[in-house]
Amino acid sequence: MSTFNVINPATEEVLATLDEDNQQTIQEKYNLVKKGQSAWAEVPLTERINCIRRFDQALGEQIEKLAGTLSDEVGKPIQQARNEINGARGRIAFFLNNSEKWLQDEWMVLDGATKERISYEPLGIIANISAWNYPYLVGVNVFIPALIGGNAVLYKPSEFSSLTGLAIRDLLYQSGIPENVFQVVLGGGLVGSYLLDLPLNGYYFTGSNRTGKIIASKVAEKMVPCQLELGGKDPLYVTDEVADINQVAGAALEGVVYNNGQSCCAVERIYVHEKVYDDFLKSFTEQAKALKIGNPKEEGIDIGPLTRKEQLAFILDQIQDAQNKGAELIAGGYRLQQPGYYMVPAVLSNVNHNMSVMKEESFGPVIGIQKVSNDSEAIDLMKDTSYGLTAAVYTSNEERAEKILRQMNTGTVYWNCCDRVSANLPWSGRKDSGLGSTLSYSGIRAFVQPKAWHLRK
Ligand code: NAD
Repeated sequence: MSTFNVINPATEEVLATLDEDNQQTIQEKYNLVKKGQSAWAEVPLTERINCIRRFDQALGEQIEKLAGTLSDEVGKPIQQARNEINGARGRIAFFLNNSEKWLQDEWMVLDGATKERISYEPLGIIANISAWNYPYLVGVNVFIPALIGGNAVLYKPSEFSSLTGLAIRDLLYQSGIPENVFQVVLGGGLVGSYLLDLPLNGYYFTGSNRTGKIIASKVAEKMVPCQLELGGKDPLYVTDEVADINQVAGAALEGVVYNNGQSCCAVERIYVHEKVYDDFLKSFTEQAKALKIGNPKEEGIDIGPLTRKEQLAFILDQIQDAQNKGAELIAGGYRLQQPGYYMVPAVLSNVNHNMSVMKEESFGPVIGIQKVSNDSEAIDLMKDTSYGLTAAVYTSNEERAEKILRQMNTGTVYWNCCDRVSANLPWSGRKDSGLGSTLSYSGIRAFVQPKAWHLRK
């Protein structure tokens, strides 16, 4: 069996060497869960939910250890790692509280000769092919409702968050999820592609647009559900009607740099009304320069290393491209000369849409800030993208916000907030940002199939 290394991006040291799955081991895992799934579907819904309740408790009890592992393997500042696990627990609470309501049989017609009912049946065995940037959050969006719905799961964590994937597996087993219902598949893209060769009953992917398109085209011929949660190039517009420009600049900055900008819904481009542009830029830059960069295991650190070495080169190229086309680099934008993939957050002004930094997902600590003269110019620029994940506007004028946000072709819109996800609301991307939705009631129903009952005595 071949192996792969898990690298600590803060030190570039090897944290662990793990066995990599191959076609044969994946086939064995598939055979195992194929046997387990039908028995799991017969376990009463309340008992399946109780297993997840125990899993949630275990996350709470072991949060320090789990957050440490997460921080070690992806470079996330330790407090953000705790926040992620707590955030995942919030999402699990939503599923614990709402699954029975949305999975129970529904009587549609009770009168007359023909009674009509809808029941919700599991899909069977699903693949959960996942990203590394928020392994708990994007993981629980899928494997929790899938398991509650009676499915078996082949869970492939990203090769950059495999230790977290294994920790999740162990806690699920300890919580009562049978081994023949949940199996972890370890390795990189090639290993993930083997899952596409299996006759699974659904594919749920979180990751890049490039991989998403490969998966969608391969799964298309199987005629099974395929959901894709992909990247974005999310805009934020600051109008001239904001009460406290420093507060808005701080909120926007957090949207840019939280998790080192490695969030699917990170703020990736900012447009500012000309009347407040200078004040915004000054405040934003001052606050950016005050961010603390360093060892993610130390308390109080804002910015750790990037998770993947390759992303450094990509972002430095975007900055160079912008500068070549006339942008001004007014803060950061360089790698720290020390071990680890550390980069000082970059602020670019004088940007335009001929630059990659305003069009292609950066997925890192870099932002372009563009001046606009009115709402209509801002709207045109916000809409000038192949992506459709989120869009945000800051204004004290609710009517103005509504008018702007209604025009956004995105799955999520924000008024006076940004870079947030709620379990109560569907999480979905449009256009190059994805297909289908997780979370909310649609994210419970995404893992079951309706059966229509026509009943005559
Ligand atoms: P990625 O596409 O490189 O990898 C995602 C997963 O797919 C990994 O597990 C990887 O091993 C696997 N994979 C790669 N090639 C494959 C193939 N040919 N067949 C099957 N599996 C394959 O993405 P990433 O770097 O892990 O994640 C970053 C991207 O994810 C960003 O674009 C980000 O915006 C996006 N993302 C989106 C959301 C969302 O909810 N919309 C959430 C988190 C991340």
